[in-house]
Amino acid sequence: MNLALYLEQAANAEPQRPALGHGARPICTYGEMAGRVARFAGALRAMGLIPGDRVAIASKNCTDYVELLYAIWHAGLAAVPANAKLHGAELGYILEQSGARVCFASDDVASALAPHAPPSLERMIAVGGAEHGKLLAADAIPLTACSGDDLAWLFYTSGTTGRPKGAMLTHKVLAAASSAYASEVDTVAPGDPVLHAAPMSHGSGLYIMAHVMNRGVNVVPESGGFEPEEIFALLRAWPRTSMFAAPTMVKRLVECPAECPNENIRTVVYGGAPMYVEDAIRALDRLGPRLAQIYGQGESPMTITVLTKAEIANRDHPRWRERLGSAGRPYACVDVAVTDEDDRPLPAGADGEILVRGDTVMAGYWRNAEASAAALRGGWLHTGDVGVFDADGYLTLKDRSKDLIISGGSNIYPREVEEVLLRHPRVREVSVIGRPDREWGEAVVAYVVGDAPVAELDALCLASIARFKRPKDYVFVDALPKNNYGKVLKTELRTMDGARPSRQNVQATRLRP
Ligand code: AMP
Repeated sequence: MNLALYLEQAANAEPQRPALGHGARPICTYGEMAGRVARFAGALRAMGLIPGDRVAIASKNCTDYVELLYAIWHAGLAAVPANAKLHGAELGYILEQSGARVCFASDDVASALAPHAPPSLERMIAVGGAEHGKLLAADAIPLTACSGDDLAWLFYTSGTTGRPKGAMLTHKVLAAASSAYASEVDTVAPGDPVLHAAPMSHGSGLYIMAHVMNRGVNVVPESGGFEPEEIFALLRAWPRTSMFAAPTMVKRLVECPAECPNENIRTVVYGGAPMYVEDAIRALDRLGPRLAQIYGQGESPMTITVLTKAEIANRDHPRWRERLGSAGRPYACVDVAVTDEDDRPLPAGADGEILVRGDTVMAGYWRNAEASAAALRGGWLHTGDVGVFDADGYLTLKDRSKDLIISGGSNIYPREVEEVLLRHPRVREVSVIGRPDREWGEAVVAYVVGDAPVAELDALCLASIARFKRPKDYVFVDALPKNNYGKVLKTELRTMDGARPSRQNVQATRLRP
């Protein structure tokens, strides 16, 4: 099975239905898109690319991106979508590691990438440029037959630690993840739009296929990115819109003073990083019962657990708050377990590593047998995330084991402390880390964006969590270090903390346990 088959079927069934939108306008029907994709696939083959070859896309979001993906699949090739915001050297690494022979890059990316292009790269083509346009004059080729186990998308992990690894997502994996989205996260009816404001190389791009399968419209904002006011304006043009948004993006939508046409939102799906309970409630107040949460990772794309719209909106449920702090329950198509160090399942209430098994799990890491064997040992994907199930089957993510703070011999999960500090109205963002400490092993330190008085933060902690979990130091900063997907880089924060010229200047705020 080839993912591009869904496009062909949509085009056969309803050739006149809009397939792509740019800004407020529909720009192409399914019939037109399928025709362009088949010609473009012909051009890729005419370049000498053969089934299984990798073609990279390093571009900001655009409608050509969607066609490129389908042309790559139609020709039996594998796509390597790389985050356009990466440094040229990081993109160069991905091109080299994936062995991509051709790369489609937007202008801004091409110049950054040029000095770092590896010798294995034969051709770089500007997305939307003259050469790209000429490719559409090629002869169409029929859909290439391929197996569900063939590589469709090399998904490079965000690399919050070390070099990114390429998770091998096959046609079958992406088809399973797309079906799971449409059956458990969001209904997609023909004509329903999905707005790609988050990078298509990551979460948002993984929702393209569910919308093609169901004849929805893939819409790209004119800015190619995330501008809350532009999104509100686009929502007016596109009723029943869904979108994927990282928690930081949801926060920006909620804080934007412009008027949001809530009634035109079908679903805002958040995930990819922790959503704090207070932020989730603010989002619900502002956007209404239209939020769903997913937990996934490149290795099981967008598909491990889901907290549905109904669950998020059910304020009357006695455990509503607790559930908002969880990542929901496993999708029906995957087995999820929480296990000890020897991979033995733990009962509800016990913390352990989250393991996943099912059709949405990657085939392994590209050209990295050692990491693949470690991640997939025993037939389970080892996520590296720590979590705990409650008695009702809701999974709460604790921090990754490397972020766990051990202070005075006790385990402290930073997120628990962060949730409490965020209840203060003058805390905009916070990240809690452990600082090496002679007395405690590690001391809890809170990096805060905001201007809340330390005494009030301390009182808030005293009222809500064990004394030993309270930060012993607060550092106020203008912004937290984040990667291109908006995830806070705790490793960088710890390095920054270690490099602070003198910690004496924060002694004024230092509090004793
Ligand atoms: P990536 O593979 O780059 O998408 O990163 C996946 C990682 O993001 C997961 O392993 C989790 O650590 C984190 N993550 C994903 N979804 C959530 C969520 N809903 N809540 C908290 N963390 C999440």
